[in-house]
Amino acid sequence: MVKSGFMCFVLVATLLIALAAQDQRSAEKSNQVVLKYLGTAGWEITDGTTAILIDPYLSRINGPAPPGAGSGHFMAGDTRRVYRWGDVASPDFAAIDAHIQRADFVLVTHTHYDHILDVPHIALKTGAAVIGTESTENVMRAYGVPEGQLITVRGGEDYQFSTFSLKAIPSIHSPLDHKHYFSSAMAPAGMKAPLTLEQIHPEGGTLAYLIRFHSHQILAFGGMNYIEREMVGLEPDVALIGAGASRKEIYDYSGRLMRALHYPAIVLPTHWDNFLAPFEASQQPALEALQSFVQEIVAASPKTRVIVPKYFEPIPLDTPAK
Ligand SMILES: [Zn+2]
Ligand SMILES: [Zn+2]
Repeated sequence: MVKSGFMCFVLVATLLIALAAQDQRSAEKSNQVVLKYLGTAGWEITDGTTAILIDPYLSRINGPAPPGAGSGHFMAGDTRRVYRWGDVASPDFAAIDAHIQRADFVLVTHTHYDHILDVPHIALKTGAAVIGTESTENVMRAYGVPEGQLITVRGGEDYQFSTFSLKAIPSIHSPLDHKHYFSSAMAPAGMKAPLTLEQIHPEGGTLAYLIRFHSHQILAFGGMNYIEREMVGLEPDVALIGAGASRKEIYDYSGRLMRALHYPAIVLPTHWDNFLAPFEASQQPALEALQSFVQEIVAASPKTRVIVPKYFEPIPLDTPAK
């Protein structure tokens, strides 16, 4: 009897210790920020409670290529349906649903199909707030995303949300087509779905975002350009930087950016893969091309750690913020 009483005490004590450890783990977990690369310029950033998506594009349709030196090109042997500009913009719902279960916020950098095609479905399915330009929000309206979910920004806003704050930063689009790309087009109000690929593709201006989340400041770009003066005063510890080939059109792209940002601890290249290829295709040529970006960053900022992300692989942030 004494013995079984003792055993009972040991069991309860063990259980209490285990529960305490679990409590501590979940407390730690709630402050742990984890990033996940979704391909193209797409990211998920979450602390396990709040999920923020940036330019989520899971469909990876066999769509039109961007003008010269863009980061999408037709893949030889691709037997999937070819989408042209006049075709109805049809996301791959199965691909989205396989990878996106929940979202609280979707940040959109600009209204190009490789950034926005999947956002109406994600917004309708998750109820997430969509933050973006007027052009982006007009595309959401066309698909019936409720007004209450739409937060229109132009760049310069610095907003507090319950678990993070967000600065929308004026930016500029990648200098595609050897600097000949330029667009002042925006998606107009009053459109009604179904829209064509062309209708969801007027740039509508370009934004970057600074997310302050727990002890981290994460700066996210949706392409290969930035406005240097808008970087002044930002101190991100993590920067998602456009690493496609069109960055080479820009004077001292990586050097100017690293200096302006005061040498962030972590750089994650974004928009570097061939987004016209399905997830399962080899990205070997893009990975090889990415090496020159890694070298540029390390040359400009030797203490920065460049992490080449793998699709959907969690990247936990555990470095203390500056
Ligand atoms: Zn674009
Ligand atoms: Zn793009």
